[in-house]
Amino acid sequence: MIRDPKLDIKSLQIDDLEKIVGQFGELEYRARQIADWLYQKRVQSFGDMTDLPRDFRARLANDFAFGKIEIVRLLGSRDTTRKFLFRLGDESLIETVLIPASPALYGSRSDRRTLCVSTQVGCAYGCKFCASGLEGFSRNLRPNEIVDQIIAIERETTEKIDNIVFMGMGEPLANLENVMGAIRIINAPWGLGIGARHITLSTSGLAPQIRKLADEKLQVRLAISLHGATDEVRNQIMPINRRYNLETLLAACDYYARHKKQRLTFEYILIENVNDTPEQAQRLGRIARRLGAKINLIPYNTVQGLPWSRPSPEHQERFLSILRQHEVAATLRREKGHDIDAACGQLRLQTKRELQSTPS
Ligand code: SAH
Ligand code: SF4
Repeated sequence: MIRDPKLDIKSLQIDDLEKIVGQFGELEYRARQIADWLYQKRVQSFGDMTDLPRDFRARLANDFAFGKIEIVRLLGSRDTTRKFLFRLGDESLIETVLIPASPALYGSRSDRRTLCVSTQVGCAYGCKFCASGLEGFSRNLRPNEIVDQIIAIERETTEKIDNIVFMGMGEPLANLENVMGAIRIINAPWGLGIGARHITLSTSGLAPQIRKLADEKLQVRLAISLHGATDEVRNQIMPINRRYNLETLLAACDYYARHKKQRLTFEYILIENVNDTPEQAQRLGRIARRLGAKINLIPYNTVQGLPWSRPSPEHQERFLSILRQHEVAATLRREKGHDIDAACGQLRLQTKRELQSTPS
């Protein structure tokens, strides 16, 4: 299918809208009206923007796309983590995870609903444990496709989302321009109005982009997928570490934390016999303490076809208690529902496998 070459209306910032309105010979306040239809009233076509002159609506429809993303599969129920599989305009599949009010996550209050959004179709970074990387990279998501994940899920569930984590499929810092475009819309009072401190970006360790993000104005939170406290362990499971080793990554983290006056979060998936030894815990504790970072321990979710597994609960607790000895803030996710809580990328993978095995 040929991609629509038109820019999508939901990829534009308010000053872009103001310029366009001016070029069309309309008054500036029309830009706010459009934003209001898009992000407050949330209409699904230009035709629904009924207080805009009819010919103006037609010209907008002629010049701009109004993309749609469609929910094609849903797993989970109201009180649990729910996973949504979306089909985009070009038939690509991405997934988004809605995490209900739960123990404090990424600095948010516990009564907040968190949405885990995708930023790319697939992922090019090929971490050995991750479902998103398994089938490689297709393309970057555009700002509207990121923003629409939030709008579509709020519409479907009628629940307000107050916390956004960029931890779905893809590496957000490899699509930084579009992700920043989306974040500005998510954060803006004329957009979705979600505070920057309730937005967390997660990266596998793109050190130069971490520095670039540090120089941006927005106070978004940053989480680093560390998953190993030495180059030896990271090299084994995360190819990115061969490009930016631990020292380079930690220097960029330090730069971010100082620049933003912010505490970082280290994500650490516990994988049996790979990164769960007391020695790794000791080193991780020292690193986190030096950088003043928090640690989120996440027992590994098994991915069909991959050889890794999660350590026993005793080994998970042992790891946590060593971190606590270093007096760092550390949490261990102990939730049930292993199957549905599985990390992003898995529902898409499972659906694709099912489709491939269904004779047509
Ligand atoms: N690419 C970014 C963000 C998306 S991945 C990153 O790597 O940070 C979001 C998080 O899910 C990362 O911490 C990633 O390591 C983790 N993850 C991936 N596969 C997982 C699995 N099978 N079990 C638990 N966490 C997983
Ligand atoms: Fe990509 Fe993140 Fe998965 Fe690594 S963990 S393959 S960077 S999505």
